[in-house]
Amino acid sequence: MNTRAAPQTFDPAATTHATPVTVAYGDGIGPEIMSASLRILKAAGAAIAIEPIEIGEAVYKAGHASGIPPEAWETIRRNKVLFKAPITTPQGGGYKSLNVTMRKALGLFANVRPCTAYAPFVPTLHPAMDVVVVRENEEDLYAGIEHRQTDDVVQCLKLITRPGCERIARYAFEYARANGRKKVTCFTKDNIMKLTDGLFRRVFEEVAAEYPEIATEHMIIDIGAARLAASPQHFDVILTGNLYGDIVSDIAAEIAGSVGLAPSANIGPHGAMFEAIHGSAPDIAGRDVANPSGLLLAGVMMLVHIGQGAVAARIHNAWKRTIEDGILTADLARGASAREGVAAVVGTRAFADAVIARLGEMPRTLAPVAYADAAPLPVPEAAPRVPARKELVGVDVFVHAADIAPDALAERLAACAEGLFDLTMITSRGVKVWPQGLPETALVDHWRARFKSKPGLALNKAMIARLLGRMAEAGIDFVKTEQLYLFDGKPGFALGQGE
Ligand code: NAD
Repeated sequence: MNTRAAPQTFDPAATTHATPVTVAYGDGIGPEIMSASLRILKAAGAAIAIEPIEIGEAVYKAGHASGIPPEAWETIRRNKVLFKAPITTPQGGGYKSLNVTMRKALGLFANVRPCTAYAPFVPTLHPAMDVVVVRENEEDLYAGIEHRQTDDVVQCLKLITRPGCERIARYAFEYARANGRKKVTCFTKDNIMKLTDGLFRRVFEEVAAEYPEIATEHMIIDIGAARLAASPQHFDVILTGNLYGDIVSDIAAEIAGSVGLAPSANIGPHGAMFEAIHGSAPDIAGRDVANPSGLLLAGVMMLVHIGQGAVAARIHNAWKRTIEDGILTADLARGASAREGVAAVVGTRAFADAVIARLGEMPRTLAPVAYADAAPLPVPEAAPRVPARKELVGVDVFVHAADIAPDALAERLAACAEGLFDLTMITSRGVKVWPQGLPETALVDHWRARFKSKPGLALNKAMIARLLGRMAEAGIDFVKTEQLYLFDGKPGFALGQGE
């Protein structure tokens, strides 16, 4: 959101062309907060043509495991802009998260979550906080590729791609540039995940060089999250991966005042989805008490995205003024009707009425916002790359074997490798247990055996197939393989801990 541009006057005639917007009313409090938000958008002069779709709980229960019927996909793909209230994911197995499905199917690679304090009107320990979390939205552990491999061991694949890193890093810097932001901080855990998080960080540093006017820093996610919680004013834009971003943005929203206030934009080359970050709050559904602010502010982001910045600013300023006037929903008043500054604790509908009544007014204490009537931020393409020279040098074979000592297992595995490979290492949960393991290391029924090609022997896939064939004959239960490659002479695999 461009909160730093020059103020603008509102001219409804400038926005006569209505932009089609797909609207999902959602579940739980969804219909109430969506109706309230749309009422405000319309009263403010938003030129949008609404096309409603039904997604969520009822659709899941009607037998669509994805929570979305085919005709809704068509509407979303045609309009390219989705304004979405929260939905309820039914309990129990078999239901896929609709949010994750939509983000990935539509290629919404960037999740932008502004977390701003509205002190003193919304209590917070961090009145100066104004942080935007830019979260990668499609990759990482959220690829959802999970397998059970043995009795004791399940795994989840963490997939990080160079094009994915490039796109999200460029988006973060483009966002910073377009919104007058001064610094981008990258959070990773590259001290542990040297290949995956290492790539995210390396690409961040490469892309940063193209934006010399923007300051950059990198923090290991654990200390970064701790600093964010203690001194959020240190941060401006935070760029991070999918899982870290999910967690960090909720922390940021909560310490800014309330997760109930935070909007979220999901942006991709083929469309965009705008939503609140909170869920469907079934505990308060249908009671006219829910706070529509998170969804409304997502609507503000949507209007900026579709080039109706003046209307967006009109709504955001009226909303700020409403909060300043002490008109609060129960979640923000936090039971303190007597708190200084709380004039009235109101329900969803009355809150929307209060915002509508203030359209055209400016906040008196909080900074007024102005949004440029700009086209959507360009979605940067990843640069084409020359493929690296790839050389096969070995294979890791994962084995299911219970009640066996590392030495005995090594003997059986080495026998299978005779004349083809050298068995160089066995690990248990990533820690080397052979050769020269420590007796203290806990063992499970899942082993990774590393086979390296013999010196002078050119390795090929047929030799790996022969190794596996011998293992099968020997009754060794291999559950997974990973080839070991050098890319342009550099190892494309991590060392075992202790190797
Ligand atoms: P939730 O965010 O719905 O609720 C957590 C708490 O915050 C509840 O006490 C609720 O009453 C309160 N709350 C949330 N939004 C509020 C608002 N606007 N005004 C006032 N109070 C509000 O989280 P949950 O209870 O863990 O999840 C409920 C359902 O929502 C689940 O089915 C979950 O899968 C789904 N969910 C959907 C989305 C989405 O669609 N984007 C996101 C998160 C959770």
